[in-house]
Amino acid sequence: MKDYKEELLKLLKEFKIEEKALKTFFSFFENYTIPTYISDNADHPGPSDILSHFGIRPKDIENFCTIKHIILNDEDCFKNHIKNMFDYFSYFMERFLEIFCNFNEENAYNFVLDSIRFGFNLSKTKDAVFGFYKAQNIVSSYVVDAIKRYQEYQADVNMFELTASFIKFSNFASEIVSLAYYEKVLTDKIGEVYEIALKDSLTSLYTRAKFEDVRVHEFSRSKRYRLPLSLCMLDIDDFKKINDTYGHPIGDEVLKTIGSILLRHLRSSDIPFRWGGEEFLVVFTHTHADEAKIACNKLLNIIRSAEIKKDDKTITFTVSMGLTELKEEDDSIEKGIERADKALYMAKKNGKNLIEILT
Ligand code: GH3
Ligand code: MG
Ligand code: MG
Repeated sequence: MKDYKEELLKLLKEFKIEEKALKTFFSFFENYTIPTYISDNADHPGPSDILSHFGIRPKDIENFCTIKHIILNDEDCFKNHIKNMFDYFSYFMERFLEIFCNFNEENAYNFVLDSIRFGFNLSKTKDAVFGFYKAQNIVSSYVVDAIKRYQEYQADVNMFELTASFIKFSNFASEIVSLAYYEKVLTDKIGEVYEIALKDSLTSLYTRAKFEDVRVHEFSRSKRYRLPLSLCMLDIDDFKKINDTYGHPIGDEVLKTIGSILLRHLRSSDIPFRWGGEEFLVVFTHTHADEAKIACNKLLNIIRSAEIKKDDKTITFTVSMGLTELKEEDDSIEKGIERADKALYMAKKNGKNLIEILT
């Protein structure tokens, strides 16, 4: 017997389903393992817990096999209906019918896995999901039609029961598709909202809340692989005076300008944050202080030459910076931040509009 859990895990990984979603899936399926499905008698397999969770009983499985038999033997139906449908919805029809017709009595859970695989493939686009439902409707009407025809020369067949069993399977497949689809939509949405929540609306920079990610990823990576990491604390000079002289909206404009300079002129591996009101932190990953100093000097010059126009006035501004590099003995990233703060204080004391380095 196949290891069901391993198969499912492989499948979810193949479709790059995030760990959180993976856990949700497992907590769902873990409670519905299929220890009873494979019975000693291969001709009469017992019900799987998963299928029974979806209301599919052993009798439905039997009926499903009968329907499969009917479909594969009803050539007229194939010619008159399926052929045309294939032309219109070939992809979805083929895939759905493949799952449908290759249903294996000995491995009910293959049907589950195929449905999930199909669901995840479809979940990549909304159109594909609607395509699936369209195809499903067509297949449904086709199946009902095929059963009806079959009944004409095989009077003992219980059309109602067969149709009911088919609908159960069909519902199960669409439930899996929508589960897979909404799982994806939700995971994407949560990611988007998370990113927005961690960004400052004025400067579009990450806020302090995002710093936790840096602690987890960059600090531990720097420690583990002995990679250099530099930190620069940046503070606007005499910002109170800018606000007092030109008004708060111009102060906001200055903050915005600095934010966009940081985003535009830093490398993608450097991470700028709006640390506080008029304070910014730049984390330079994989960078020694002497290299970071070159980048900071460049920023200092760009900020010095930036201009904001108000009426007939041109407003310029400057910043001070405190730079440091993480040391071997720093047991937390906060130690580095404290040192960058001290260096910034020195820069302010030494006349502002300059960089001080503490190593
Ligand atoms: P220093 O050169 O020593 O840094 O002096 P400073 O005036 O820049 O520093 P101080 O700490 O005295 O003042 C900071 C000012 O920053 C006061 C506060 O009103 C202003 N500020 C903080 N956040 C914002 C903001 O979001 N928008 C605006 N316009 N001003 C802000
Ligand atoms: Mg300040
Ligand atoms: Mg200031």
